[in-house]
Amino acid sequence: MLTIKNLSAGYGKVQVLHGISLEVPKGQVVTLIGSNGAGKTTTMRAVSGMIKPTGGEITLNDRRIDGLESYHIARRGLAHSPEGRRVFATMTVTDNLRLGAFPRYTGERPKGDIAGDLERALELFPRLKERRLQLAGTLSGGEQQMLAMARAVMLNPEVVLLDEPSMGLAPILVDEVFRIIESLKARGVTMLLVEQFAAAALKVADYGYVLENGRIAVHGPAAKLRDDPAVQAAYLGGG
Ligand code: ATP
Repeated sequence: MLTIKNLSAGYGKVQVLHGISLEVPKGQVVTLIGSNGAGKTTTMRAVSGMIKPTGGEITLNDRRIDGLESYHIARRGLAHSPEGRRVFATMTVTDNLRLGAFPRYTGERPKGDIAGDLERALELFPRLKERRLQLAGTLSGGEQQMLAMARAVMLNPEVVLLDEPSMGLAPILVDEVFRIIESLKARGVTMLLVEQFAAAALKVADYGYVLENGRIAVHGPAAKLRDDPAVQAAYLGGG
């Protein structure tokens, strides 16, 4: 469903990705592992159109999306929950969530049941439900991170890119984030996940890719990567 072939991208003259290829099949969770600066975030940005790829092809359901504006990529059903806490601080939680559904409108009519999806999103994120009328800027950092994730879900997307959803969260919230990823998976949501907790990511994922200096070094079924001594030594704290 999401296919990346030979993707190159970077910033100005600095090339970060050197021809990476990966696939995210429908209904699966695929994780991208790598050390700091390997290019994980850059991959996500190139897929969602935040930066323009300099080479390669990206297709969503067999249609090319590379080179499109990010808004049009979102309309095709690709949601990006970016690294950091990108929420609209002066709007309420509920309004932030409604904005996530904005690309589903063509003219005045939205695709699907937005009110129902809003209720389902709030059920999935109970912390946000309790704070639905609070201004997003007054949420804790962890809650803002969850709001960014919930907003991506409001697109009712074909594929969600989750960039470090647990970054900076207290351990109890990290567990909650992984529980939410599990529930999304159970609903059949296709995900590409970047996570600092590589072991936990490989537990929830079906398949994994290891990115080193902008190239895919190893890939394979998640269970296999978890048992790979080289992957363990480099990314799983030695086991
Ligand atoms: P991390 O785990 O630290 O988030 P990452 O694998 O996500 O790392 P990227 O954020 O993709 O890595 O960064 C890859 C390289 O691109 C790094 O060397 C980084 O300094 C550089 N880079 C990232 N964003 C920019 C930018 N906006 N302008 C210039 N260089 C950038």
